[in-house]
Amino acid sequence: MTHDATRLPTTILGYPRIGPRRELKKALEALWAGRASVEETEAAAAELRARTRRRLNALGLPAHDASIPSASSYYDQVLDAAVAVGAVPARFADVVGADGRVDLQGYSTIARGRGEDAPLEMTKWFDSNYHYLVPEIGPDTAFRLADDRAVREFAEGLADGFLTRPVLVGPVTFLLLSKPADGAPAGFAPLSRLADLVPVYAELLRALAAAGATWVQLDEPALVSDVLTADTAAVAAAVRQAYGALTAVEGRPSLLVAAPYGDLGEFLPVLAGTDVEALALDLVRGAVPAGPVPGLETKAVLGGVVDGHNVWRADLAAALAKLEALRPLARSVAAGTSTSLLHVPHDTADEPQLPERLRGWLAFADQKVAEVVALAAALEDPAGAAGALQASAQARRDRLGAEGVVVPAVRERLGGLSAADFARSDYAVRRAAQDGVLDLPPLPTTTIGSFPQTAEIRRARAAWAKGELPDDGYTAAMRAEIDRVIALQEELGLDVLVHGEPERNDMVQYFAELLDGFAVTANGWVQSYGSRCVRPPILWGDVTRPAPMTVDWSTYAASRTAKPVKGMLTGPVTILAWSFVRDDQPLGDTARQVALALRDEIADLEAAGIGIIQVDEPALRELLPLKAADQPAYLDWSVGSFRLATSGAADTTQVHTHLCYSEFGEVIGAIDGLDADVTSIEAARSRMEVVPEIAAAGFARGIGPGVYDIHSPRVPSAEEVEELVRLAAASIPERNLWINPDCGLKTRGYAETEASLRNLIAATRAVRASR
Ligand code: GLN
Ligand code: ZN
Repeated sequence: MTHDATRLPTTILGYPRIGPRRELKKALEALWAGRASVEETEAAAAELRARTRRRLNALGLPAHDASIPSASSYYDQVLDAAVAVGAVPARFADVVGADGRVDLQGYSTIARGRGEDAPLEMTKWFDSNYHYLVPEIGPDTAFRLADDRAVREFAEGLADGFLTRPVLVGPVTFLLLSKPADGAPAGFAPLSRLADLVPVYAELLRALAAAGATWVQLDEPALVSDVLTADTAAVAAAVRQAYGALTAVEGRPSLLVAAPYGDLGEFLPVLAGTDVEALALDLVRGAVPAGPVPGLETKAVLGGVVDGHNVWRADLAAALAKLEALRPLARSVAAGTSTSLLHVPHDTADEPQLPERLRGWLAFADQKVAEVVALAAALEDPAGAAGALQASAQARRDRLGAEGVVVPAVRERLGGLSAADFARSDYAVRRAAQDGVLDLPPLPTTTIGSFPQTAEIRRARAAWAKGELPDDGYTAAMRAEIDRVIALQEELGLDVLVHGEPERNDMVQYFAELLDGFAVTANGWVQSYGSRCVRPPILWGDVTRPAPMTVDWSTYAASRTAKPVKGMLTGPVTILAWSFVRDDQPLGDTARQVALALRDEIADLEAAGIGIIQVDEPALRELLPLKAADQPAYLDWSVGSFRLATSGAADTTQVHTHLCYSEFGEVIGAIDGLDADVTSIEAARSRMEVVPEIAAAGFARGIGPGVYDIHSPRVPSAEEVEELVRLAAASIPERNLWINPDCGLKTRGYAETEASLRNLIAATRAVRASR
């Protein structure tokens, strides 16, 4: 087929990279464990790429017109870009080979760190649960084309009979996502290096053209983020400069600039004003422009109408209407996904255990490809595609009317809520009541909930799930672990104990399995970062709690000690954030349903004598919308749902919450709004940086800034912990200060946990004694 730069192929912006059975994860972890060679790992990855090309082709993406993206990665696409342009931090300079290349071992070292050399920092990728590695760029970073993997993989596809479309992180986004390298002068902005970076991209484009590439996709999602583009004029100038230079490259491939994860806003006319051939717009989070956009009429536009974020079948008629609305504004319109399909599992056919009816409402990556193909057919010939449109409408109707999707009792309870259901007594009243019943020392010590998950615990849980271990054997195994954890905490001298969460595979999935309205998948893995995958539950219906979920474990633990034991729940926002949620009602309604189930659980815990209950909300900041304008509404429903969950608690019940990140800036008011009696946060890693900020914000309830960084096996000395406690005590009144680690201990081993907690207690005692 001859190349036509005025029309885009039907396509998707990207596809899951880890493999339907996590093949890439297994291959990488074998390499890292020394069980496989670089060659074996690369062969496994190449086989997965080949399978992906065939699969996409079988689903209807043509083999020969750049319709199939070439978008694999061994770890992360931003790291790929950093390595490709030679942006390897100085501490890893030795992983660059004599030939100037970084092999898979070296690449893994940059991603994962070694000894004292910290890996690149990891950060959330836009509003998804994927995390990318942050490049470090300084004034002297020597950009050069250091890695041509994109070219090699394109050539690999071609040799296999597929003319694919290489996908790269675009140069503006690359620099906007980077941070200044160590030693860069104050105020240095990586974007200031654009003029040096663009020639490397130009060289890469020439190499891809020489290899035969007709289209190249450059992802520029940074342009949809208010935060990253705060300096609008500078970013607009950067876009013009970068794409002015890249479109001037002699003999280059046609360029598709993709802007997933939101609306381009004022950057749409900027991009439309460049000479790139095509733009991909996110029409799920963003909107079809209301009227003509200067320059857009010269572009081929990919209408991203199939949602790359969720797992529901599209409303094809609505999607088609958006594409039709776009038609008069663009030179040509093609159907596509709003984002890469990286964020959804492979195939609903891999979930035979799901109820047939529910499965019929779902679209994972493969089903979404089929939807894009159906839309493309509908654009050509609406009448011919009537069948697909009808089936899509039918699936949505079926879902709306299905049992469990709308549970009248849940709707009535939500409808009957009033302001009083979201508020507890004044903090002063609660504080007095709690001080009266809880006999806690000054600077009370506690942990965040989980204790190390040993191989034994995991084995027992897995055996029970498979039906190989009977219920009573499982209960006995978990109780034995609770006994150990309680005895250890007593021996260490902690003040508020936990049961250790041995029964929880995951802090969200555990609750999803026990609540009605959720389904869990067998193979629905999505990449979280590197080789790490998560399997989000699917929240499909109105949420109810058929039975208490945590009361037996908590009361058993409490029966083993005279000290208070904290009940442990996951909050509504985190449950939503780490699930695939229904798209047929506002998130706030869904969150309030989950909140009511938790509210009932709290009542049951109280009735069983549990006087301290922690409701974890580590994802509160994660769901914060990218656009400042959308943030107040989010904070309103998210904070509201936490309060709905917790405000049924008696004055004497001490409600804790835990948030595990240390950048509070935009959510500090929200944390205060949660109105928890005690809030634990991550702080050790940043050496208490947040504490003065929190004090300055007037936060006047209990607060436990972490004094033990649990992200590494390192054991902090008692002196080190003491210093952190004193730093915290400098800004927080002693009566409000709690002493705890940064986060749960489930990823740690027992040896380092014990030693660290021993030092934490010794430090606390030293500070108490010196008062
Ligand atoms: N209670 C949970 C634990 O300790 C909290 C985990 C989290 O914050 N991510 O594991
Ligand atoms: Zn945490």
